[in-house]
Amino acid sequence: MRLWFLDRWLTLLFPIRCVLCRTRGERAVCQRCWDAFPRIADACPRCDHPATGAGWPTTNCADCARGAFTFVQARALGPHEGALRRAIIRLKFSGAWRVADVLAERMAERVREAWPGLGFDAVVAVPMTAERLRERGFNQAALLAGRVAVRLGIRHQAGWLARRPTDQRQSTLARGMRRRHARGAFLAVVDKLAGRRVLLVDDVMTTGATVGACARALTARGATVWVLVAARGVLRKECVNK
Ligand SMILES: [Zn+2]
Ligand SMILES: [Zn+2]
Repeated sequence: MRLWFLDRWLTLLFPIRCVLCRTRGERAVCQRCWDAFPRIADACPRCDHPATGAGWPTTNCADCARGAFTFVQARALGPHEGALRRAIIRLKFSGAWRVADVLAERMAERVREAWPGLGFDAVVAVPMTAERLRERGFNQAALLAGRVAVRLGIRHQAGWLARRPTDQRQSTLARGMRRRHARGAFLAVVDKLAGRRVLLVDDVMTTGATVGACARALTARGATVWVLVAARGVLRKECVNK
């Protein structure tokens, strides 16, 4: 809180610079950079995986077609590339909350547009490993989740999901291994989830292994899960239905 106050003072004294183009202004991402953010034109109706070229199916992607996910739907602000990707990188460094403010505002808008009238009971962030949390000092998914929750008037339930300690970094694993590895990594640490509608939040969704495993842990306890991410990573073309 004290830091926040200090930051507001500094903002008055020294205008914020856009984290992407360094233009002086009032927001962490200026309007011009926002307008340059990539958008998802055509995507899998279920998981928002962007179209990867000609012949994109009008139905679900290969993952959704084979029932890989237990969440109802996933939505992203855009594909994980260009200015959006650079904004997400900034989410991992100091001053991250400013970028989180801007992204969360748009993410809340995305929820209203994608699921109008759908009343969520809780917003839950994808938890970070204790080791990573020690390194970074904060969980960027929780930073987004808290702000999305405030904007939507829903409670951010930081304690509903926990991560089991892990000895191997997800990013060093191949895709198939990632999925298997992620499957047992999360634990819903709340009993009364039957009938609850949960909005699961993360910064990036690529293979869907992580959000998929979180959703599985929550649905196993009776919750229904929707996924909201800032960016949707694009898989290699061969992973996608022809
Ligand atoms: Zn800018
Ligand atoms: Zn899909």
